[in-house]
Amino acid sequence: MLSISKNKCVGCGICENECSNGAIKIYLTSGIAVIDKDQCSECYLCIEKCPQNAIKVIQKSLIIAIGTDDEKTIKPDDHFGMSKYFQIWSYSDGRLELLETRENSKYKEDETRIHGDPNKAKATSSVLKGVNVLLGKMMGANIQRLKNKFVPTITREPLIKNALTIIKENINEIMEEYEKHERRGIILV
Ligand code: SF4
Ligand code: SF4
Repeated sequence: MLSISKNKCVGCGICENECSNGAIKIYLTSGIAVIDKDQCSECYLCIEKCPQNAIKVIQKSLIIAIGTDDEKTIKPDDHFGMSKYFQIWSYSDGRLELLETRENSKYKEDETRIHGDPNKAKATSSVLKGVNVLLGKMMGANIQRLKNKFVPTITREPLIKNALTIIKENINEIMEEYEKHERRGIILV
């Protein structure tokens, strides 16, 4: 899957002219190139021709951490970072596989702080080494600190097995968010 950087693209149109599938268009309103994924055959010619190095292949696999207390449901009553366990799932080529379950850090958050404790963010981050995406029912204030490492993803679906189906259905959007310089997070319904 390809992605065009909005920051790098200058709308020169070289990629549009090079693509024999007609998969790239320069949008008049934004002045930048946009790829129609359904038309793209992933020949990668546009990547070679782009003078701005604005087009790149985005990864097809992700590591996803699901916050849970019982390993069956997503933590229902508090934010992701307060989960007892993190289930670590691998997504690759349309398949999800449970890799391991990690116990959350024993670090106790400082409840006197109005905003998330930075030391808690650091502890959670170390438990989640190698992870790309966080999935929970809600995210705490610390998510502002963790967004540069992970895509925060929220679902209202209580059962992990159903949430996994939702992840599969939205994997392209999640991957695109992961590739962004400034991530906003995603809410899955
Ligand atoms: S060739 Fe590169 S800079 Fe030019 S329009 Fe395409 S993506 Fe943008
Ligand atoms: S990879 Fe090939 S088919 Fe896809 S947009 Fe680029 S030039 Fe077109």
